[in-house]
Amino acid sequence: MSDQLIQFVRDYFKTLEFIPLHAPVFPGREKEYVADTIESTFVSSVGAYVDRFEKDMASYTGSSKAVATVNGTAALHISLKLAGVEAGDLVITQPLTFVATCNAIAYCNAEPVFIDVDRETLGLSAKALEAWLEENAKLDTEGVCRTRADNKVVRACVPMHTFGHPADLDGLISVTHRWNISLVEDAAESLGSFYKGKHTGTFGTLGTLSFNGNKIMTTGGGGMILAGGALAARAKHLTTTAKKPHAYEYIHDELGYNYRLPNLNAALGCAQLEQLETFIGAKRALAAAYEDFFSGTNQEFVREPADCRSNYWLNAVICEDKAHRDELLHTTNSQGVMTRPVWTLMNHLAMYRGSRRGALSNAEWLESRVVNLPSSVVVE
Ligand SMILES: *Cc1c(COP(=O)(O)O)cnc(C)c1O
Repeated sequence: MSDQLIQFVRDYFKTLEFIPLHAPVFPGREKEYVADTIESTFVSSVGAYVDRFEKDMASYTGSSKAVATVNGTAALHISLKLAGVEAGDLVITQPLTFVATCNAIAYCNAEPVFIDVDRETLGLSAKALEAWLEENAKLDTEGVCRTRADNKVVRACVPMHTFGHPADLDGLISVTHRWNISLVEDAAESLGSFYKGKHTGTFGTLGTLSFNGNKIMTTGGGGMILAGGALAARAKHLTTTAKKPHAYEYIHDELGYNYRLPNLNAALGCAQLEQLETFIGAKRALAAAYEDFFSGTNQEFVREPADCRSNYWLNAVICEDKAHRDELLHTTNSQGVMTRPVWTLMNHLAMYRGSRRGALSNAEWLESRVVNLPSSVVVE
């Protein structure tokens, strides 16, 4: 089975060389735009490409505003602060995610609470969230969600759209609304993924994107905050050292961060964004080929949820059991076809081992079975 998969991947990518999990491609105007920043000398914190990148991304996602940041983790950190997360607060998220989601919570000196994912979406489960809140939380007289045991504020909820597949947003919006919890979407992996026709990352109070080198499009390193006008203005202020506009004085009116995206990186982003729909077309064609390959086998290919258009950023397959997963990982990697297990669950990492959590049976089941497959864009 693994040998047939290796053959299939080699045929698809038309190479006998090493095949990475995800490599960026630059077939558009990348060199032209980047060279333009060098010629203009505006490579750093000032320049027209940042403004253009923000405008283009707002228009692509349908967000009223977009604020570029130095990476996706920084975008999440600031978004959580703007959602009101303070030291000692609880923030709900899923254990099946990249560590950045949890680290951003910890940077706010808040504590993550791990709630299970749905098998169908691999994203935060609205049902499991509701069950945990019913058992552990109450609304106080001011309507603030607090834990019954120790009166901690449950301030925000951060679902993540795993591998680009949208989570159950209708369910999550309804539960968080009822419990008065802010929704902040970690859409780092889901640029180009739509839930019922609306772009992921635009459902919550704030949403964040990442343009790291392994994402569907890249700026080298970079991120974006998606938000409405007032919050976006606050995000811009906080990510640019909280400097008041002035002709020459240095006045910073609160603790700010140096989280802005350099113009050089934004130039790369503008060129990549021009090709995003082409990239997604290539990804969806590859996903369809994988789906075809795995049909009728005892491995289950992870498909986009109903009513969604997924970007299929990282293709994934669910193996029968851990032994089979280990065999697949070993055979493919030893023959130059890169595959990876899903992340170690956050509650298994040293920093988050003691964190609160609900029952995590789906996440644990997936942790021992999911394998990511080569997913790079094939340029025709
Ligand atoms: C990539 C990623 C991020 C952000 O990563 P950066 O490298 O900081 O841009 C955040 N959350 C998830 C789930 C990611 O996959």
